[in-house]
Amino acid sequence: MSAPSTSERLRLRVAGIVQGVGFRPFVYQQAVSLGLSGFVFNDGGGVGIEIEGPPEALAAFERALNEHPPPLARIDGVRREAVPVRGDNGFVIRRSEAGSASAMVSPDVALCDACETELRDPENRRYRYPFINCTDCGPRYTIVEHLPYDRPNTSMEAFAMCPACEAEYNDPANRRYHAQPVSCYDCGPVLTLYAEGEKRESGNGEAVIDAAARRIREGEIVAVKGLGGFHLVCDATDETAVRTLRERKRRPSKPLAVMFPSMASVETAARLGEADRRLILSRERPVTVVTKREGSPVAPSVAPGIDRIGVFLPYTPLHLLLLEAVGRPVVATSANLSDEPIITDRETLERKLGHVVDAVLDHDRAILNACDDSVAAAAAGKRVPLRMARGYAPASRPLPFETGKKILAVGANQKNAVALAFGKQLVLSPHIGDLVGLDAFEYFERTLGTFRRFYDFSPDVIVCDLHPGYETTRWAEAAAKRPDAPALVRVQHHYAHVLACMAEHGMTQKVLAFAFDGTGYGGDGTLWGAEVLVADVHGFERVGHLRPFRLLGGEKAVREPRRVALAMLFECFSPEEVLTTESPAVRAFEASEIRTLHAMWSRGLNAPWSSSAGRLFDAAASLAGLAQTVGYEGESGLLVEAAAAGCRDAEPYAFPEKEGVADWEPMLRAMLAEKDPAVTAARFMATLAAWIVRTAKRHRGLPVVLTGGVFQNRTLLEAAVSALEAEGIDCLFQRETPLNDGGIALGQAWYALHNE
Ligand code: ZN
Ligand code: ZN
Ligand code: FE
Repeated sequence: MSAPSTSERLRLRVAGIVQGVGFRPFVYQQAVSLGLSGFVFNDGGGVGIEIEGPPEALAAFERALNEHPPPLARIDGVRREAVPVRGDNGFVIRRSEAGSASAMVSPDVALCDACETELRDPENRRYRYPFINCTDCGPRYTIVEHLPYDRPNTSMEAFAMCPACEAEYNDPANRRYHAQPVSCYDCGPVLTLYAEGEKRESGNGEAVIDAAARRIREGEIVAVKGLGGFHLVCDATDETAVRTLRERKRRPSKPLAVMFPSMASVETAARLGEADRRLILSRERPVTVVTKREGSPVAPSVAPGIDRIGVFLPYTPLHLLLLEAVGRPVVATSANLSDEPIITDRETLERKLGHVVDAVLDHDRAILNACDDSVAAAAAGKRVPLRMARGYAPASRPLPFETGKKILAVGANQKNAVALAFGKQLVLSPHIGDLVGLDAFEYFERTLGTFRRFYDFSPDVIVCDLHPGYETTRWAEAAAKRPDAPALVRVQHHYAHVLACMAEHGMTQKVLAFAFDGTGYGGDGTLWGAEVLVADVHGFERVGHLRPFRLLGGEKAVREPRRVALAMLFECFSPEEVLTTESPAVRAFEASEIRTLHAMWSRGLNAPWSSSAGRLFDAAASLAGLAQTVGYEGESGLLVEAAAAGCRDAEPYAFPEKEGVADWEPMLRAMLAEKDPAVTAARFMATLAAWIVRTAKRHRGLPVVLTGGVFQNRTLLEAAVSALEAEGIDCLFQRETPLNDGGIALGQAWYALHNE
C-alpha cells in the first residue's frame, strides 16, 4: 500500500530522561490517536521516532511531545530531520536497541496516586500488594544493572511475569506498558520476616507486615528493606526504643529521620510552612528538615537539643502498608554502622548489625545500586537540597554547550558524590557518603563502576580537591599514573563550592562569593572555611577571610567545640588570664588540661591554623555554654540556631577588618561578658550576616553567591538573603544541588568544562 502523496515523514531523536518514564507508550498513544504511522524505540542515546502522515497531524504530534510529555520525562533536546515517506502500516513500538549509552537513568519514584488507589481497592488484583508500581512510579536506578533500562537489565530479570502481568506489560494502551518492575502476588517479589526464636513467616499476606508492625509497636528495632537499602525502624514515640537504637548503633546525638503514616500525623510533630508541605509531599519524598512543634508525640531522643526534625512520608507501597499497620510515626534511619554506606542485603545486615536489630523484614528483589534517602529543607521559601539520593539522583543536567572531553569529578571526602560530564550532559551521582573506612571507599569505587558501565565512560580528565589527604585525591592521583592516563586537575575546595553554585545557575561571569563551611584545604596549606572570593570560571582571588586560629588536636577539635574556643582565648589572653576567665568554655576543662593545651598551642603541636566559619560556630556554641563536645559535625550550628530562635533584631558584634582579614577578637571579648546564651547566639549570627552585607556593598555590581555547608543554617541564610535583598543586591544560592560538600563534584566539573 502506498502512502497518500500529501504525507510527510519525520525522524526524531529525543534526548533527556525519556526511558523508564512511559515515553514510548505516550508516543504510541499520540501517534495512534492522530492516525499517524511509523515506529518508536529506545536505545542507548534516548528515544528514536520515525513518524509519517499529513503535515497537520505531524505538527500536532510534535506539539504534544513538547507541551505535555509524561510527568516523569525531561526532554533535553529533539533532533529533527525530514526523511522520504515509506508508507508504514500503523504505528509500532520496536524492541530496544543497545548502543552507545547516553540516555539518562531516572531516579526511583515514590508510589503514584493511581497505584495507591489500586492498592486500596479490594476488587483489584493487587489489593494491598507491597510491590505495586507502574510506568509513573517505582524503583529505577536501584534495580538497573545496564542501560537501556529494560527488564532483562534489571534485578526484576529473576521474576518471570505471569500471563496477566505480561499482558499489561505488552499492551501499549496500559499504564503498565513496559513498566520494568511490574509484578503481582502470582509472580513478583516476596516478603519474609526473620527474627530470633521465631519461625520465618513467608509470603505476601498481611501476616508478615502485621507481625513486623506488632514488633515495632512493642518497642523492637526492625530492619526493613526498602528501595535503596535497609532502614532501621522503631517506634518514634517510644523514648526507650529510640534510646536503645542509639545505644546499639553508637549514635549518641545525630538526629534520626522520622517517617509518618500521614500528613496529618506530621502536623502533630512539626510546625510547617507552605514550602515545607510542598517539599514533604513532592514526588521525590525527601526527608524534610522542619521545625519541631511543642507537645509533639515524637520522643525527645530523636533529635536532642535542637528545634529541627527530619520528617518524611512513606514512598513505597511496603512502607505505606507498614506505617498504617504501626499507626504511629517511626524512626526510619539508614541501616549502617556510624558513617558506613547503607546496607542493601540481609547477609551483610546480619553480619554488621545483628546486635542492633530484633527482626528483619526482607524481600527478594535485589538492590543493585544502593541509595540513601534524600534530605532537603525549605529556606527563604525555596527548596535547599541537603543530600541528593533517592528521588533526586542520579541527577542529570543538560550542558549549555557540547564538551569534547569526558570529565570525571571525584568530589570531596565528606558527603561525597561524583560528577560526570560528557557530550551535552552533566550527571551527578547519588550521595555516596563520608569516605572513612574501607567499606565507604569500596562503595565509592562501586558507584564509579556503575556510572562508567551505564555510560561506557572512561575519563579524559579527572578533577579532584587540593587536599593531599583526601581518599578521592589519592584515587585520582593513582588513576593519573596509569598508562593512557587521563589529565589530572585540582580545584581548591571553597572555589569548587562557588563553582557548584555557578554551575547550577549556568554562570561563567565574575561573582562575589561567600564560601562558609567546616574545613577545606586552602591554597596556603591552612584549613580554610570562611572565604570571601571574587571568582569566575577561570580562577579566584581571596579577598576576605577570618583571622586564623588554631585547631587544638586537629580532628579532635572538630568534636570538641571547647578546644576551638580555648585556642581563640589563647590568642587574646595569657594562660593565667584564661584560667581565671568566667566562661563555660573554660569551665569545661580541668586547669591542668588548660596548661597542657596551652603548651601544645604555643608550640603548634598538632594544632593547624584554620579560618573556618564552622569552627567559629563551634567557638560561639562553647562560649555560650550550648555545647562543649558534639556528636556530629554541624551540631553546634543547630544548637546555636535553636538557642537564638525567638531572639529577634539582635545587634551584630563589632567585627573589624584589616586588609580583608576579619577579626573576631572584639566579638570574643563581648561574648565573655554576655549573660544570656540566646543573645550570644543571635548576635553571633547577626555578626556574620552583617559581614556579608558590608562586604557585598564594597563590591557592588557583582552578583553574590552564598555557598558551603554553614549555609545549611537556615537562620543565617535567611538573614543574609533578606539583608542583601534590602540593599538591592542580587544573591544566589543552590536549589537543585547541595550547597554542602555534596556539591563539590559539580563545581569541580564546571571548572574542567571551562578550562580543559
Ligand atoms: Zn504507579
Ligand atoms: Zn503477575
Ligand atoms: Fe566544604
